Amino acid sequence: MYDVIIIGGGFAGLTAARRLQEAGREVLLLEARDRVGGRVWTHWIDGQTYVDYGGQWIGPTQDHAYGLAVELGVETYATYNSGKHVIALNGSVSTYRGLIPKIDLPSLLNIDWVIKSLERRAKRITLDHPWESPGARKLDSQTLATFLDRNVCFGNARKVLEAGLDTVFAVSPSELSLLHALFYMKSGTSLDCLLNIDNGAQQDRFVGGAQLLADRLAEKLGGALRLQSPVRRIEQTGTGVAVIGDGFEFKAKKAVVAIPPALAGRIDYQPGLPGRRDQLSQRIPMGTVWKCFGIYERPFWREKGLSGQAVTDENHFVQTVFDCSPKDGSRGILLGFSLANRARRFMQLPENDRRNAVLTSFAQFFGKEAASPLMYLEKNWADETWSRGCYAGMFPPGIWTGFTDALTQPCGHIHWAGTETSPVWNGYIEGAIRSGERVAEEINCLFHV
Ligand SMILES: Cc1cc2nc3c(=O)[nH]c(=O)nc-3n(C[C@H](O)[C@H](O)[C@H](O)COP(=O)(O)OP(=O)(O)OC[C@H]3O[C@@H](n4cnc5c(N)ncnc54)[C@H](O)[C@@H]3O)c2cc1C
Repeated sequence: MYDVIIIGGGFAGLTAARRLQEAGREVLLLEARDRVGGRVWTHWIDGQTYVDYGGQWIGPTQDHAYGLAVELGVETYATYNSGKHVIALNGSVSTYRGLIPKIDLPSLLNIDWVIKSLERRAKRITLDHPWESPGARKLDSQTLATFLDRNVCFGNARKVLEAGLDTVFAVSPSELSLLHALFYMKSGTSLDCLLNIDNGAQQDRFVGGAQLLADRLAEKLGGALRLQSPVRRIEQTGTGVAVIGDGFEFKAKKAVVAIPPALAGRIDYQPGLPGRRDQLSQRIPMGTVWKCFGIYERPFWREKGLSGQAVTDENHFVQTVFDCSPKDGSRGILLGFSLANRARRFMQLPENDRRNAVLTSFAQFFGKEAASPLMYLEKNWADETWSRGCYAGMFPPGIWTGFTDALTQPCGHIHWAGTETSPVWNGYIEGAIRSGERVAEEINCLFHV
């Protein structure tokens, strides 16, 4: 009989397990995959080259993630952000410096106005209870696309804004509640912060990959971690839970489900969860993301004064591109994000066509060398059985105001964690860590009663 069984070995589950263990609880962490980290996953190509298939960046105010990195001896380094960026619009490619792309003035003014207007609205959101924010019902009855339709007057402004917003949310604006979009912006400080590298969410990376942090957290748990143990069923009695998978059954006083709501809804609960919770799990879809990597001998674009960053319109399958080379620049790595609707079209192409499409875009942006990488890699997160998409579960209209606190309300002995439950840095590694801390505290308080 354990005190607590935690389901899911991402940052939320790992943090919860660790905190509960530190408080003297007997814990067991059950992870479906053969590794920890969940939506964070570093893939090593050889002894010196790696790519982060999953979450990779941290930035200012993500104090718990930075704190963990210092504590666990994982070094961070600044994302490469020097030189000229590329913008590919309406079939032509041009470069610009700083934050302002080279497009027509009316579009630039329009983009500035729209971002400021979103920021102003986001400031009014109540992070702990978004459904109680001023005007919540109205905001939650429309999508982010409704807002853009009303406020974006120029074609280029719409194209640039959509590429940026797709990259932030990984769903298209027409899928996203305006209330949730504003909540997400404030949760991550501001839209400006979510979009930026310097002083933004993409500021720093982990030397050796983000998974190192998860692996080091897992080491601290010792024998309390069981990999390759997908949980299929949770049975509740008056005194606790039985957590059941293929060939195992463990009992505990409490369970923490630290997986995204869409996957939490696939576990069989006996007795069934309250209808409100089950219906909520049916309504929070995961975003759609492909990460596509070109790996080169060296970051040759830097020699041409290019940053390796690009923003594009629908003529390309990747909305945005970043330089993801290692700290010492010993290899050149370009990362292209294919997201939301573009990602769904991309998914329908044969593998070779996908590779050609991405490398052709890279070559148009950074020169013909980009067409011939040492290696091309891609990861489609919708295909991952134990994630089914990313970066996070995104709320369509009507969910926050219809289901209010159902996301975090314990159901009997079952408690909920995961980045989707965090009011701060929701959707990010930081949010996952904070949700693990919150749920550990929630349960520790119950043990003290
Ligand atoms: C492509 C991509 C890019 C991203 N970029 C960034 C970024 O740059 N910065 C950032 O901060 N965030 C980023 N994110 C988001 C970030 O990775 C996530 O918010 C965070 O890792 C979520 O952690 P979690 O613990 O809440 O959930 P998860 O990491 O999803 O952990 C849940 C765990 O539960 C396991 N599991 C699922 N079902 C079961 C079951 N039935 N039984 C047992 N185990 C189960 C899964 O295998 C998984 O390990 C990105 C994510 C992706 C995928």
